Amino acid sequence: MALEFNLKQSEDYEKQAFDAFSASDLKKSQYCLMKAAEYLTEAAKETKDGQLSELRREKVRKLLDKAKRLPELAEQAKQKPSSKQTKDDKAPTSAAPSDGASKSSVDAEIRGTVESLIHVSKVTWDEIGGLADTKQELKYALGMTLAKRPAGVSLAGWSNFLLYGPPGTGKTLLAAAISNAVKRQDGGSSCFFNAKIAGILSKYFGESAKLITGLYTVAREKSPAVVFLDEFESLTASRDRGEQTGAERQVLSTFLSELDGLDKKGTEGVYVLTILATNRPWDLDAAILSRFEKKILIPLPDLPARREILDIHLARKGFQIETDLGKIAEMTDGYSGRELEAFSKEVTNRMIVEMNMAIPELVTKGIEQAMGYEIKLRPLSLADFERARQKVQPATTPATVKRYHDWRDSVTR
Ligand code: ATP
Repeated sequence: MALEFNLKQSEDYEKQAFDAFSASDLKKSQYCLMKAAEYLTEAAKETKDGQLSELRREKVRKLLDKAKRLPELAEQAKQKPSSKQTKDDKAPTSAAPSDGASKSSVDAEIRGTVESLIHVSKVTWDEIGGLADTKQELKYALGMTLAKRPAGVSLAGWSNFLLYGPPGTGKTLLAAAISNAVKRQDGGSSCFFNAKIAGILSKYFGESAKLITGLYTVAREKSPAVVFLDEFESLTASRDRGEQTGAERQVLSTFLSELDGLDKKGTEGVYVLTILATNRPWDLDAAILSRFEKKILIPLPDLPARREILDIHLARKGFQIETDLGKIAEMTDGYSGRELEAFSKEVTNRMIVEMNMAIPELVTKGIEQAMGYEIKLRPLSLADFERARQKVQPATTPATVKRYHDWRDSVTR
């Protein structure tokens, strides 16, 4: 009961903070944000689920940060009179999405922010170990987006993707490879947008929904385009528990209407692929899930995938290994790609330090001495890897792995 009360109080205060901010009453807005944080802190203490409790604490930090930055946020809003909230703007944005062709519909500052989300990366598909089927599926969707449509034929086969799974398994890496793939060969601007939802919500208080509309307007203009939205759960985590704030609701309904708008008449020839990534798919609600037919579990790497990832982070970086890489892959069961990378760094760094103890002394003697020195390396032994394993341990528990599989089964049933 106390938990529900604290959550409700926190949500009410946050809503009041949003309204007070829109009415330029910063003092009240600040007070309400502090109260929202206070009640949420209590709620976090009473939350038994460790991950959820941490999510709530994270939100407390954001509320406090926002309270501190209110004058700065108000100043930003003042400089953008056309994007200032009006009563009408505050209604959840369920209106039809903006017309893809009209450039003027996006305020210059929002456009600038959206364009700063355009991302170009150098990651190539073969820098991603394992995940062969996923890579294939994403390439197919991309190819369908980029290829010319035969005249007079209406082709469906166009899907948005939801990538979910434990942290550090390559979701962002896959998006980065897509970013590289959609880079125009002719040197034209890239059309890959990469945004973290939590960042949008905390940074653009009161403006987040407009940013989403702006994002899709610019994406449609640049069609074909790919929109990658990371940490999506931070938007919907609280919906089912009735903790969702006005701003979050607004962003979500804007996002949904933008997605729906892409299927509407008048958008023929406009291709925008949306990829969502999340570690907490069970926090996404039905409205989101129903719009993402392709829900792909990006799991912890299996044995062959771990071997490939270790190869990417060790052998392909030029390190020699005395022992069979398959053996190392066997001893790292349960590790994510990120943990395998950390494990590889631990092994190589330790070996490099051990082999080059003379470096500090050389630097003391003078820069020329250090410049004339060539770094010594030696092949990595099984003992090196065993030592590193003591230091880098996997964080995803078998129970969490099971939760992902159960969730997958529940949505594919
Ligand atoms: P999070 O859910 O925490 O955002 P993520 O699934 O998006 O994590 P990435 O950011 O893609 O994970 O991976 C983090 C790092 O781990 C990568 O930069 C890469 O170095 C390494 N890594 C993860 N998966 C792989 C993989 N399949 N192949 C090679 N390296 C990997």
